Amino acid sequence: MKCKKAIDTFLMLDNAESIPLLLKFHIVHCQQCHNEINQLQKAFTLMQSSSSSPSIHLEDAIMAQVMMQKRYHHTISHLNWIASGLIIFTGIATISYSDALKWMTYHFGIQLVLPLYLVMGCIIAAYISSYVATHLNKLQAIAHSIKSLL
Ligand SMILES: [Zn+2]
Repeated sequence: MKCKKAIDTFLMLDNAESIPLLLKFHIVHCQQCHNEINQLQKAFTLMQSSSSSPSIHLEDAIMAQVMMQKRYHHTISHLNWIASGLIIFTGIATISYSDALKWMTYHFGIQLVLPLYLVMGCIIAAYISSYVATHLNKLQAIAHSIKSLL
C-alpha cells in the first residue's frame, strides 16, 4: 500500500470504524504515515470534544431565550369579526341572483354550481372554525353559565 492510498483509506473511514488490516500493516512499517495518522486522530478527537460541548451550552441558551419570549397574542375586534361575517354571508346569499353566476353557468355549464357551493361551504366552515378557535375560552364560559342555569 502506498502512502497516499493509506492516508486516503484512513480519511474514508467512518467515526467508529476500525482501521483495516492492510492499513495497520502500512502504519506499523511507515513512520511518516504513522505520524500523520496520529496527528489526524488527535485533530479529530479535538474537533469532536470542542464541537460537542458548545452545542449543549448553545442549546441551553437558545431554549432559555425561547422560554423568556412573550407568548404571541393577537386579538381581532368584534367589529371586524361581524363585518367579515356579514360580507361572507351577504356574498353567498346574493351570488344566486348575481349576473356573474349566470355568466359563469352560461359559459362553463351547470357543472360549475356544485363546486362553487362547496367552496362557499368551505369558506363558511373556515370562518366559523377560526372564530371558535380564537374565542374558545369565552365560549366555554358561556357554555358553563348555560349549564348552571339548567
Ligand atoms: Zn506511508
